Formats: sequence, structure tokens, C-alpha cells
Amino acid sequence: MTAFPLERTAIVTGAVSERGIGRATINYLAAQGWNIGVIDLDDARCRATAKDIAASYGVQAAGAGADVSDEASVRAAIDELEAALPQIVALANVAGVSSPVPYLEVDAAEWDRVLGINLNGVHYATRRAAESMARDGVGRIVNISSVSAQRGGGTFSKTPYSAAKAGVIGLTRATARELGEFNITVNAISPGPIDTDIMGGTLSEERKEELTRDLVVNRIGSPRDIAAAIAFLISEDAGYISGQTLNVDGGLYMH
Ligand code: NAP
Repeated sequence: MTAFPLERTAIVTGAVSERGIGRATINYLAAQGWNIGVIDLDDARCRATAKDIAASYGVQAAGAGADVSDEASVRAAIDELEAALPQIVALANVAGVSSPVPYLEVDAAEWDRVLGINLNGVHYATRRAAESMARDGVGRIVNISSVSAQRGGGTFSKTPYSAAKAGVIGLTRATARELGEFNITVNAISPGPIDTDIMGGTLSEERKEELTRDLVVNRIGSPRDIAAAIAFLISEDAGYISGQTLNVDGGLYMH
């Protein structure tokens, strides 16, 4: 077992969106003392978000824009963050897009867009971050899947999204197996409906009630519910958990 270094960095993709899971995650982690690397599409907003985090929590933070579906841009962003921040111990792959297109209307471009961001993007960031983690002999990776992977959609997004998110679970298990020898754990979180803007904009009260109907917990999830689960899975004490999918979904999917 390799101990975490005193100064450690977590890189979070999709971390800029103000009401999103990634933003909640960087706030949560910075409050725990993690230094933060911010990756999202817009470079200027990544840098501004990092500045806010550093000022609010007194940690080190840096931002770099990247399109996670473009391997060269993800690699360049992680190179830059690694040069600017303490040792990268954790990566949270949060960036993602929804896709409500009915299957018979899905064309090749939509399929490639959704798989490119939601599945390839997780692989590209993981592939780069794992190089550093393997060299350092310690790492924690958390990927965001979705209950849509397990239930075949049913909330908002449809087939390409479900396929990509199911792919994330396979990627998680396989990388957990291959990277274990380097003391790197890889896990997935499968959120149920969370109150962000990804399901076609801010949710109305009616829509929230509708989404709550099949749950055993009587409310829609908050971004903080997911942030807290990420924080646990990347913690030093979670080192014996790998290859797992943690359902943080209000009990929507039980197996
Ligand atoms: P969100 O607020 O839309 O966050 C997604 C973030 O990813 C945004 O900051 C977005 O940037 C960024 N992003 C999109 N495409 C990108 C790309 N190509 N490269 C880099 N960053 C990109 O939605 P969220 O609900 O927090 O979603 C976070 C994750 O949770 C996603 O993977 C989503 O599939 C998953 N999830 C969400 C729910 C839910 O109910 N909310 C349920 C299950 C799983 P822009 O804002 O600039 O586009």
C-alpha cells in the first residue's frame, strides 16, 4: 500500500458547468484539501473557475481547456496541469453530454458525438493520467456512468448515451484489472436523476416529481450526492475498492 503524498491533486473533467456535478465535485474536494485541476471545453472558463477555487479554499488550482473527445487536446491539458500542480493522485471523469434522439433518428454523427465524448473521452483522460499514476505508484480514477446504462435509458437520454455509459462500466472494470498492479484503483459511479441542466435544461418541479416516482428515496439527487461519492472513492481509505460501480441513484436500480 502506497500512502498518498501530503500535497495531492485531483483532476476533474466537465468541472465548469455552474449547476453541474463536476463543479460540485471540485468544491467538495477543495474543501477537503485536494488541489484541483479543472478541465472543460472553454479554456478561459477553466482558468477562471480554478482561480475561484484557489481563492475560496486556499488550495492550488489550475485550469486548461480541452475537448475530451480529442485525445491530443486532453493530453495537452493534463500535461499542463501536471506541470502546474502537485502530484496527480486522482482523476474524476465527469464530462458528458446527453442525447435524447430516438433510435430510428440516430445518424452516424450523433452516434460518434455521444460515444466520442462519453466513452472515448473517459479513455483518453484515463490513458494519460494513468501514465503519471503508474510512474508514481498510486492513483484513484472515478468514471461517471449512468443508471441509463443499467436500465437502457428511461430518464432522458436514449440509445447512444446508454451504450456509451455501459461502455464506461466495461472500461472501468478492464482498467481496474490492468492498472491494479500500479496501485491504481478505478471505479464508476452510476447516478440516477440529478438536479442539473443536462436533461434538456433546468428541471421544472413537475419534472422532478416525475423523475422521483420510481425511486425509493423521495427526492431527486443533488450534484453534492455524487461529489461526496467521488470524494469517498478517491480517498486514501478506499484503496481496497476497485472495478466497482456504485449506484448513487435513490434506489432506482437494485441488483
Ligand atoms: P452538465 O452540467 O452539463 O455537465 C457536463 C459538463 O461536461 C459541462 O461542464 C460541459 O461543458 C462538459 N463537457 C461537455 N462536453 C465536453 C467535451 N467534449 N469536453 C470537455 N467537457 C465537456 O451535466 P451533469 O449532469 O453535471 O453531468 C455530469 C456527468 O454526469 C455526465 O457525464 C453525465 O452524463 C452524468 N450523469 C448525469 C446525470 C443527471 O441526472 N444529471 C445522471 C447520470 C449521469 P459545457 O457546459 O461547456 O458544455
